[in-house]
Amino acid sequence: MEKELKIFSEIVESLLKDEVANPVSEVIPAEALHSKVDIRLSEKGIPDDTFNKVLTEVVLKTPKTSSKYFFNQLFGGRQPKAVLGELLSVMLNNSMYTYKVAGPQVGIEKEIIRKSCELINYGDNYGGTFAAGGSMSNFMAMLMARDRADETVISGGLRHKMTAYTSADSHYSIPKNAVFAGIGREQVRFIPSDNNGVMKVTLLEEAIKKDVADGYKPFFINATAGTTVLGSFDSVNPIADISDKYGLWLHLDGAYCGSVIFSKKYKHLVDGVHRADSFNYNAHKMLGVPLSCSLLLVKEKKHLNDSFAKDASYLYQTDADDFNLGKTSLQCGRRNDGLKLWTLWKSVGTEGLEAIVDNQFALADTARDYIRSNPDYQLYSYDDSISICFNYKGLDPEVLCTRLYEKNKLLVGFGSFHGDTFVRLVTINATNNTEDILNFFKELEAEADLMVPAAMAT
Ligand SMILES: *Cc1c(COP(=O)(O)O)cnc(C)c1O
Repeated sequence: MEKELKIFSEIVESLLKDEVANPVSEVIPAEALHSKVDIRLSEKGIPDDTFNKVLTEVVLKTPKTSSKYFFNQLFGGRQPKAVLGELLSVMLNNSMYTYKVAGPQVGIEKEIIRKSCELINYGDNYGGTFAAGGSMSNFMAMLMARDRADETVISGGLRHKMTAYTSADSHYSIPKNAVFAGIGREQVRFIPSDNNGVMKVTLLEEAIKKDVADGYKPFFINATAGTTVLGSFDSVNPIADISDKYGLWLHLDGAYCGSVIFSKKYKHLVDGVHRADSFNYNAHKMLGVPLSCSLLLVKEKKHLNDSFAKDASYLYQTDADDFNLGKTSLQCGRRNDGLKLWTLWKSVGTEGLEAIVDNQFALADTARDYIRSNPDYQLYSYDDSISICFNYKGLDPEVLCTRLYEKNKLLVGFGSFHGDTFVRLVTINATNNTEDILNFFKELEAEADLMVPAAMAT
């Protein structure tokens, strides 16, 4: 192993240098991939020096999601203490299903869940688990909601047409999960959002009433803390009033921005989260922990057990269920996603996580201020969001983003909302500073200004 660790250090050293010298990897068109990188597998192996060369090349040609020029998705940057934890979890290679094979790592996972539930005032009966990602956290929430609404589903399967409610701007995993859960896509009601991307609560109640009158069985409301395009926050309290009134499960999908629970300044954006039956946040998004790190928290642990516990004498041979985490997870074998969050949290404390979150909002303010003070820009998003949506000189955002990508300038994406399409800058890399954000605009403008004469000519 020593040899591989040495190679690992060498490759990482090259990568870190290259991230600064070439922050955007040269684009390799998908159809040219095999001619540019030696990817093919063959019968015969290769000598180590060739192998090391190929591996280094693959690493350096891979898109650099941790560089200062990556603004394309809802993750970015690198928190060194979290990376350290992740590397160690790979070396330890535990499976998180039992105490017998994961020992202290089980305690670490339980401690993260305990502290997280404490932050959202979930009371004494809390529970939680790490899922493979936000989509799977949402899936687990939907399954618990389904099984609570009709406990005969677990043995007998679905008997009623059950309906779920989510905003038109929520994540696509909600309708996808409705398929897996046997609910069916047509039983998902997409509630329109207002001009700020926030679910219209009066329309939510109307939709529920109509479904009840039509003989459906409503069971699940999904609210979102940080919608995927605008980064908007649904208002939890008025939605919780409705879930209480009709006896529906309320899930708060905080995959993107649920980590505001760590910030005294921004946790008001999820006021009422303690009333949600379940809540998730992706530490691999706002907290900058390596992919994947997604927590699903439930107010009543009983529901995790009801939906996911299954006895297996070949697996559960020692210790109480409380320490055999496989009893409350979706998977059987499960990688250790907790350690990397724990190493970060342990080292910087809750205050350090708060600083990470607050810095993202500060960077977003910087970006919005820049846009607002420059008449060449049009702003589409709102305060209290780390997704900054804008257009520049009326240029087509799709063309602009694609040019920036193809010319290796910046990785940034575009999005649409209520008929407008715009560039979406995500200030989620907390290792960035003001200068990095201003540099983003500088790079974008330099490329965009090359397009302006062409745009004006048409
Ligand atoms: C990213 C995201 C998800 C999905 O999380 P994955 O970890 O990518 O599966 C779900 N909901 C929202 C609001 C998200 O932003």
